[in-house]
Formats: sequence, C-alpha cells, structure tokens
Amino acid sequence: MKTLIDGLADLTGLRDHDALDVALTKLVQTLPQPHPVSVRLVRIVGEANDQRCMTCALLTAQDTEPQRDAAWMDWDTLPALVDFPTRQAAIGSGNIEHAATLTSMTVFPVGKNTGTSLLLEIETAQPLAQDVEGLIQSVLRVYKNLLGLLDYGEKDALTELLNRKTFDGAFFKAAADQDTVGELGHPDRRVYSAGKSYWLAVLDIDHFKRVNDNFGHLIGDEVLLLLAQLMRSNFRFHDQLYRFGGEEFVVLMRCAEHSEAVSALERFRSRVESHPFPQVGTITISTGFAALADNDTPGGAFGRADKAVYYAKGHGRNQVCSYLALVKAGELAEQVVETNDVDLF
Ligand code: GH3
Ligand code: MG
Ligand code: MG
Repeated sequence: MKTLIDGLADLTGLRDHDALDVALTKLVQTLPQPHPVSVRLVRIVGEANDQRCMTCALLTAQDTEPQRDAAWMDWDTLPALVDFPTRQAAIGSGNIEHAATLTSMTVFPVGKNTGTSLLLEIETAQPLAQDVEGLIQSVLRVYKNLLGLLDYGEKDALTELLNRKTFDGAFFKAAADQDTVGELGHPDRRVYSAGKSYWLAVLDIDHFKRVNDNFGHLIGDEVLLLLAQLMRSNFRFHDQLYRFGGEEFVVLMRCAEHSEAVSALERFRSRVESHPFPQVGTITISTGFAALADNDTPGGAFGRADKAVYYAKGHGRNQVCSYLALVKAGELAEQVVETNDVDLF
C-alpha cells in the first residue's frame, strides 16, 4: 500500500511526458507479485489502414530503467498493429484483453491522447489476479488525468497542436541530434550531404483576415481547426506540429534532404488549396522553411523561415519558399546565424 501511494505521489510531481511514462511503468512493475516479466506502454500511431506500435516505455524484469523508441524513429522500423491482435482487441473493445502462450499478456486500454490510442501491456508468468487488474486500472486513471494536465499546459486549446511554449525545448533536442556532415558555417548548405537533418517550416494562412471579415470569427476558428487536422494527417507521425498563434503554424521536421522537405511542404500546400472548407470554400497558405544549423537558436531558425514566408507573401502567396534557395538565387540576403554559444566578454 505504501509503495502504491509513494508511486502515485511521485507521478503527480512530474511535469514531463517522458518522465511520466517512465514512472508509470516502474510503479506498475511493483504491483503484482511476482513482478511482471515486462511492462510496456504503447502508443498507436498512423492512419487507420497502416497503424504502428511505438513503445513509450518498456521495463523488463532485468532492467532498472525502461527503454523507449526514439522520438524520430523511422516509420518502417515500427511494428504493425495488425501483428498484435490482443492490442487490436483492446482498442476495439475498450476493455482489458488477455492472451496466453507461455506467459500471460494483459492489455489495458489507457485511452486516447490527441487522437492516438495508448495501451499498457503487462506480461506475467501467471494471469493477473482480478484485484490487481482493478488496482492497475485505478493507477491508469491517475496517469491519464496527469497526461491531460500536461497537455493542457503544452497544447493550443483550439487545435490541440503544440503551443509555442514547448517549442524551444523540442528545438534544442532536434538541434543536438542534427547530423553534422559537410560544409559548416552556413545553416542550410551542409544538408545536401547529411544523412538526416531537421527543418523548420512556418506556414501562414493567406488573407485570413478576409475569412473573419466575410464569415465571422467562429467560422475563422473552424478553418484553423480543420487546417490543424489536415496537418496531422499530412505530416509524418514524428513531425512536430505547432500553432504559434493566430493563423501561423510551425512544423519541425526531420528529412533526408532539401528535396524531401520541399515535397512534404508542397504536398501540404496543394492539399490545403484543394480542400473544401465549409462555407469559406478555398483557402491557401504561404510557407517558408530553413534547415537547423549548428548551435542554432529557435529565434534564429524561425527568423530565416519567416523571411522566406515574407518573400512568398510578396510574390503571389500560395507557395513554398526555401530560405536556402532564395539566398542562393540572390533574392534574400544571407542572415548571420545567431548561435546559442554564450560570450561572456
Ligand atoms: P496575409 O496573407 O498577408 O497573411 O494576410 P492575413 O489577412 O492572413 O494576415 P494578417 O496578419 O493581416 O491578419 C491575420 C488575421 O488573423 C487577423 C485576425 O483577424 C486573424 N486571427 C488571428 N488569430 C485568430 C484566431 O484565433 N481566430 C480567428 N478566427 N482569427 C484570428
Ligand atoms: Mg496570414
Ligand atoms: Mg500571420
């Protein structure tokens, strides 16, 4: 009992998603006797016809700390949900589902979090007792409530995209993970030879003021909401999607090269242009993007992408503009990259 209360107290003290997932698996590990062979928290990602399982935390009896899939994991390496019928059954029924082979598998549906399902899967030598299942369900309710609180602070209330507050942390994580290959000194130049690079895109709705003026603020809000849904279905599961405020959106994405970033952004531009928005009809977006540089700052990278948006606005809107391409073509003056190195003197 004391272990359970201490574990819950620890959970409620956390303010970070990853840490919460770790603490949950550790707490659940301590509940049944003997301890589980493994406890796994799984997020189901992707569209209905191609859903995959991403492990948020996996704690085995041998480990003291859980492992997890990398946030920028390649899609093809994620296991398909169709290969896990018990997980599928738990999502479908919304109930605890069981499977038994050499060991017993118990899958708890945790619920939905921004459109994706979460599951907790426990492997034990013997089936879990019913009272233990009940206890774990109660712990999961606490976990889900805490997740809701974290989301409340990190997500935009209208669109449920990430808000600006969480951007800096994600940016520095991506910048630290950036491949450093090729010529240094220019923010975009080396990405042609890099394995994987990070890109920051700024998307701004064209003439959005007219939407509000002609149809009212409520319809304007609906357009923002629908655009966010289109973003979620267009970009890949690990691309990070933000609403920075008003009608301005940001995507932090990982691509092999410049042309891959162009085609993802161009595909989205074209999808928006051809999407029928109720009452309003057609809307378009202007997009600017830039690569993350070594020692980049969120403000610096955003500034470069924003310059490209500004260029798009001045040259017909409804287009994707690359900061690098514009600098190379002599259309934009190169911006000195501010770095996060601190000069004390
Ligand atoms: P441009 O193509 O140059 O971007 O023109 P624009 O009209 O989109 O740009 P501008 O910056 O002049 O206007 C943005 C408008 O976005 C102003 C405001 O009415 C609207 N807006 C900002 N936030 C919200 C919001 O939360 N909901 C709604 N409905 N409208 C918003
Ligand atoms: Mg606008
Ligand atoms: Mg704007």
